[in-house]
Amino acid sequence: MPADSSRVITNLRELAALTGDANGAQRVAFTPAWQRAREWFAGKLAELPVTRHCDAAGNVWVTLPGASPKSLVLGSHLDSVPNGGWLDGALGVLTALEVLCGIARDTDGRPPFTIRVVDWADEEGARFGRSLFGSSAFAGTHSIAADRVRTDRDGVTLEAALAECGIEIERIGEAARERENIAAYLELHIEQGPVLERLGLPLGAVLGTKGVERHAITFHGQEAHSGSTPMADRRDALAAAARLALEIRSIAKRHADAVCTMGSVKTFPGIVTAVVGRCEATLDQRDLDAKILATMYREAQEASRRFAAEERCTVEWSRIWSIEPIAFHPHLLDLCEAAIREVAGKSHRLPSGPLHDAAEVSRAGIPTVMMFVQSVGGISHNTIEDTLEEHLELSVTAFDKLADKAMAWIGGSSEPRP
Ligand SMILES: [Zn+2]
Repeated sequence: MPADSSRVITNLRELAALTGDANGAQRVAFTPAWQRAREWFAGKLAELPVTRHCDAAGNVWVTLPGASPKSLVLGSHLDSVPNGGWLDGALGVLTALEVLCGIARDTDGRPPFTIRVVDWADEEGARFGRSLFGSSAFAGTHSIAADRVRTDRDGVTLEAALAECGIEIERIGEAARERENIAAYLELHIEQGPVLERLGLPLGAVLGTKGVERHAITFHGQEAHSGSTPMADRRDALAAAARLALEIRSIAKRHADAVCTMGSVKTFPGIVTAVVGRCEATLDQRDLDAKILATMYREAQEASRRFAAEERCTVEWSRIWSIEPIAFHPHLLDLCEAAIREVAGKSHRLPSGPLHDAAEVSRAGIPTVMMFVQSVGGISHNTIEDTLEEHLELSVTAFDKLADKAMAWIGGSSEPRP
């Protein structure tokens, strides 16, 4: 029996009503609203032949035991950004549950493999600035030393917020135990961008997640009086930063799918009567191709040095964070496309600019793929985030088919190419 897409949509609306307000979803991880969402989700498991447990990093696992411990994992995240949308993450978790229900029904509660649904803890990193918290602990790419010094806006430490939810920061790495016996991981997510809408396609198969180079760039000039300093004598740190902010657009445009963003610019002393002596900017560069990413990073550095010299300033760079591009599993990608074609006629392969838990799972060496469904206007992390109901229905059906194909593949009955 195919998955019931109308029940997924009903559940999504119920969750939105329970954990959102007029400004949008408020399921920020490690807050009472998030815990309410998880309790509500646990309530949806009654009468299913499943077990539920929370791992050492706060990820929730729902397990339908099969004849073999070899498992297919489906999932996403229930947490949201503040004033977030109703679909980001929740669509993936609730569709995963629906697919699990269908498999339980079709196999009298005893599938050939174990089927698991995971709700990753703190995908968004909205409160402590650390995205993919639970999935990186699972993958073993986390750093307890870095996590220990994280605080929220009110000075609450991540460690204290975790303890509040029964999670010990020392032990989060034990979540890696969950990796045992996982044969494949599948995640359905909204696109959160405009590509599928522009192509007029409801669904796409995700090639992988783009690599990220994220840097703090500081230009040093000379503070000087805005009235008495002739233009030619200025060493204006903001002028150099501003030229770089425009130049990164050309750098990105030279490389097809690449993106570059200067998201923050702070000026010092930051008063109306002084030439800017110091300007602190951030740069975020992303591409699916590691070579292109490295080229863009070099090009931005060269440009910053050129503009600094021309404005008689100096510049220094320091890396905030980086991650390599992560390509999803080629055969699962083929299966994903085949499933999409069966329900929507046409598919498209696209990279993901945002990172997702699936990237961490893939980094852990588990065959992984994601499916995207079109986002209206490409908007997400906003209360107006939406997807047409008919597209949501197609996404549930296609994801269900993908799960079927993945199970056949895990069982060894799939052809090498779909
Ligand atoms: Zn998400």
